[in-house]
Amino acid sequence: MDMNFVIIGGDAAGMSAASRAKRLDHNLNVTVFEKSMDVSYSACGMPYNIANPDREIDDLVVRRAEVFKEKQGIDLMTGHRVGQIDRHNRWVSGIKSDGKKFKFPYDKLLIATGALPIIPEIPGADLAGVMALKSLDDGRRIKAYLKEKSARSVVIVGMGYIGMEMCEAFRERDMGVSMISMDFLPGFHETIAGMVRRELESNGVMLHVRHQASQIVKAGEILNILFADHGLNADMVLMAIGVTPNSSMAADAGLALGPKKSIAVNRHLQTSDENIFAAGDCSDAFHVVTGQKTWIPLALRANRAGWAVADNVCGKPTEISPVAGTSVFKVFDLQVARTGLSAAEATQFGFEPAEVVIESRSRAHAHPGGSSIWVYMAGDKKSGRLLGVQMVGKEGVAHRINAPAVALHNRMTVDEFSRTDLAYAPPFGPVWDPMLTAANQLLKAL
Ligand SMILES: Cc1cc2nc3c(=O)[nH]c(=O)nc-3n(C[C@H](O)[C@H](O)[C@H](O)COP(=O)(O)OP(=O)(O)OC[C@H]3O[C@@H](n4cnc5c(N)ncnc54)[C@H](O)[C@@H]3O)c2cc1C
Repeated sequence: MDMNFVIIGGDAAGMSAASRAKRLDHNLNVTVFEKSMDVSYSACGMPYNIANPDREIDDLVVRRAEVFKEKQGIDLMTGHRVGQIDRHNRWVSGIKSDGKKFKFPYDKLLIATGALPIIPEIPGADLAGVMALKSLDDGRRIKAYLKEKSARSVVIVGMGYIGMEMCEAFRERDMGVSMISMDFLPGFHETIAGMVRRELESNGVMLHVRHQASQIVKAGEILNILFADHGLNADMVLMAIGVTPNSSMAADAGLALGPKKSIAVNRHLQTSDENIFAAGDCSDAFHVVTGQKTWIPLALRANRAGWAVADNVCGKPTEISPVAGTSVFKVFDLQVARTGLSAAEATQFGFEPAEVVIESRSRAHAHPGGSSIWVYMAGDKKSGRLLGVQMVGKEGVAHRINAPAVALHNRMTVDEFSRTDLAYAPPFGPVWDPMLTAANQLLKAL
């Protein structure tokens, strides 16, 4: 009998695994259960879509459900929420959107349930108009709400990258934006965070840092967000304080958990049950710098892990590479990027870090139109290893971060990185690339 490969969750990790498995072995029965009606969409594109009232949110769908079914032969069951995994009998069960129950057997199972937005437990968090942005349906709801209410103002709770991207989207729609959070860009060095802070303020965003929303009350059509002894009025509240792994079903099934309650997986993406894999935002990963388990929910890892699971299920043993946490986002005119660890993070893992911050240029000094790039770099005094880099600037930041990311994967020392042959031409940077200037400065501190 042909093998049943069952996948829970039909987005980045789940559909990557399904497509690749079917490509590798056309006789494999691949069944995907997805609780929503959407599969394979770009969540990362939602802030830019929401910024434009004329764009359809469905523009973000990469491949429609029918294509997976008809062209690729994948049994894609949308509107099917899996609620339970029976490891003993090897079946999953759940409930369909019409309320009917279903039960399905598996030989190999992939959990690709992603992450869930964290909603603070404060009075009023369940009011209409208080929303989070995670799924395409969330994006739909937000767009419909903004249109229906002709919303003019929003309070964003949280100051991480999704909060920043959404802040720009709301300003694009000419809305008044206030942000409240205990931390500003957690994980970033104060110089980098300070540049972002000034950019937000110069774009008319009201920031309330080191504050926590304590309650939301409705006064007529207006939401009133209370914190400390202040109150802010807005038409809408966006909860953007972060996400948490969607791992409760795995925990109920007795599977081992890792950092932040993500599903623990080995380098083959197997959970503590060899017939069950986990991939994407619901699962953990090894960190390239520390060698230890970490939880960093990002899109490339989810897609790559989906591929690796398919390889392993189809008899092509594959180990997945560790993560460096390389990420980039845009906020108004700034590009902000990071890879690896900050000194504060590295200290927790037994490193003895030194750090520098330098200001360089995006183009050669005599070349018109350049702007400043600030680079933060951390290295280990004991081993000389490069530990991490952060950067901010108006241009030349987003792709420049990939050079130190590759250096981290190769466990390079700061000295080795400072000797790499990086490209130069006046429109793209100084002769000494900002990466090399930062590395040369850091060498003096190691
Ligand atoms: C607004 C926004 C912007 C982002 N921007 C970036 C970016 O610029 N760069 C980047 O790297 N990452 C970005 N991300 C993160 C990126 O989208 C995620 O890392 C990626 O989608 C993770 O893929 P996944 O398949 O693990 O999980 P998800 O994409 O969350 O998919 C999980 C799927 O599982 C389904 N599911 C969950 N539970 C069940 C169940 N019990 N039964 C059936 N189905 C279930 C869900 O409905 C969902 O479709 C962004 C995320 C958001 C929300």
